[in-house]
Amino acid sequence: MSAQYDALIVGGGPAGATCAWLLRNAGMQVAIIDKQQFPRDKICAGWITPAVVETLQIDLQDYARGRVLQPLTGFITAMIGEKIRLTQYGKPMSYGIRRCEFDHYLLQRSGAAMHLGEPVKSLAYENGLWLVNQKYQAPLLIGAGGHFCPVVRLTGARQTNSEPIVAAQEVEFEMTPEHKAHCLVDPQAPELYFCRDLKGYGWVFRKGDYLNIGLGRQDNHRLSAHVNEFVDYLQQAGRIPPALPKKMSGHAYLLYGDTPRKIVDDGLLIIGDAAGLAYAQSGEGIRPAIESAVLAAQTILQHARTGSDYSRQALSEYETLLSRRFGDRHKRTNIKIAALVPQGIKRSLAARLLASKYFSRNFVLNKWFFHLQQPPLDSGFGTHGIPHGA
Ligand SMILES: Cc1cc2nc3c(=O)[nH]c(=O)nc-3n(C[C@H](O)[C@H](O)[C@H](O)COP(=O)(O)OP(=O)(O)OC[C@H]3O[C@@H](n4cnc5c(N)ncnc54)[C@H](O)[C@@H]3O)c2cc1C
Repeated sequence: MSAQYDALIVGGGPAGATCAWLLRNAGMQVAIIDKQQFPRDKICAGWITPAVVETLQIDLQDYARGRVLQPLTGFITAMIGEKIRLTQYGKPMSYGIRRCEFDHYLLQRSGAAMHLGEPVKSLAYENGLWLVNQKYQAPLLIGAGGHFCPVVRLTGARQTNSEPIVAAQEVEFEMTPEHKAHCLVDPQAPELYFCRDLKGYGWVFRKGDYLNIGLGRQDNHRLSAHVNEFVDYLQQAGRIPPALPKKMSGHAYLLYGDTPRKIVDDGLLIIGDAAGLAYAQSGEGIRPAIESAVLAAQTILQHARTGSDYSRQALSEYETLLSRRFGDRHKRTNIKIAALVPQGIKRSLAARLLASKYFSRNFVLNKWFFHLQQPPLDSGFGTHGIPHGA
């Protein structure tokens, strides 16, 4: 006998937990299935913007009790090897969190039934019902399993075998007093260093006693060499301890518009990294993950209230909302224009632009990293109750 739910969510990261939180609040029976036990680590720098805090309605005082919450008020930007520029804001423009704590907090708060430590191995869709792992049944399935989401794999939502991924490596560790004595990174001012060929950037980011160092690139070629060169550069500049206590770990993700995956089908929605939504300029993925979860929940709740039509046609509203919010999923405008500019010109232009106070603040930080041009998305939490009998 299988357990019955209104919706099954595969993946308990920020996307899955946010969607579960909103559907549960509206009165739906929701289960999250994740292959890992929580709290679990997730490879990530752990930088969130105030828009994420607002959409998720996180009480920062409550969150900070027993968890790392590092306000970020200044930002260092530079091209690797060039002069650094510090932009000060005098107020928190972002926060540093640890993903093992943040994701666990959101998951617990969601109120969903949990099936953790359980990889999704099989899916079947028959007579309007999904059957997952031959145990769990629901008319709705939400794929929130990150870049390697099994729902994407098993339903064929990935439309090509060669997706242009961002490949990244990072390390996060708790610093000893000795490490701290050899670390010049200011906890309030994370450092961003752009690769000379502009195909990626590295970061060094101190969150309380934790140090996070990483580098991501739009090509996977020689990634480890780029990472090692970056770490050497930081060590020689005395910004990080001379020896790191852990090895780097790698992960991948898709940038918005690079290779749009199929995100809607009968009884099916794909959200977060599984849908490939990270912002193209910064690689920030948590905000698009939770915003896609909100848009998916809004679409579902609208149909749950009016007869539970979960056909592909009905759910395609999610795709429309996503395009309205993030732009056409099939256009890579920024990247195409960048490709027309010869590499040498791009390099010297970028070095000069990054040295400019105005450009660093107004474009690199405000526009590309904080997305100040886009106001936070209202999650509508508490306003979506489904009347009984709907
Ligand atoms: C190095 C690096 C640094 C980053 N830094 C930042 C940053 O500072 N800020 C930011 O906003 N974004 C950052 N990102 C992107 C961000 O980590 C992702 O966009 C975000 O985690 C997406 O959330 P999600 O819920 O969609 O997926 P995930 O957080 O990946 O969650 C997916 C969940 O699905 C589960 N799952 C996977 N497979 C299965 C299976 N077979 N069965 C069951 N469950 C499964 C996983 O265990 C996981 O818990 C970074 C990414 C990388 C690689």
